[in-house]
Amino acid sequence: MDCIFCKIVNGEIPAEKIFEDEKFLAFLDINPNNPGHSLLIPKKHSDNLLATPEADLAELIGRVPKLARAIGQALDYTAYNFIVNNGHEAGQMVDHLHLHIIPRRAGDGLKLFENRKYAEGEMADVGEKIRKALVA
Ligand code: AMP
Ligand code: ZN
Repeated sequence: MDCIFCKIVNGEIPAEKIFEDEKFLAFLDINPNNPGHSLLIPKKHSDNLLATPEADLAELIGRVPKLARAIGQALDYTAYNFIVNNGHEAGQMVDHLHLHIIPRRAGDGLKLFENRKYAEGEMADVGEKIRKALVA
């Protein structure tokens, strides 16, 4: 499979690796939102979060606090966004699960979301639809 992150795992292309264990790898994002912006990936290929077994997701998330604290300690950050883009419409460009660890500073100008407003009654409708889907 022609996957750029599998190639990083296999050492076929270089990356600035910051952490590795038997199942996971973290390396610096080549186009960072802030210096230290890192990507944490499972070594075993999985297309995205929804395609990944729950237990693997739990292990992936379990690696985040130590990594984030180390990035913060090394580079003087105390705040982070932890982001997974899932699906191309959501901005996923690399189809190998990766969790962004984005260290943040006050006033760094990074804007992640444009907020919207619900129309009258729409919020209750949306909530009802999702609750129904969850029990279906
Ligand atoms: P996403 O949009 O969530 O799929 O994020 C993919 C991220 O991977 C982007 O932030 C890219 O800058 C980053 N990226 C792509 N290729 C590489 C690479 N070879 N080394 C490090 N980061 C990369
Ligand atoms: Zn892959």
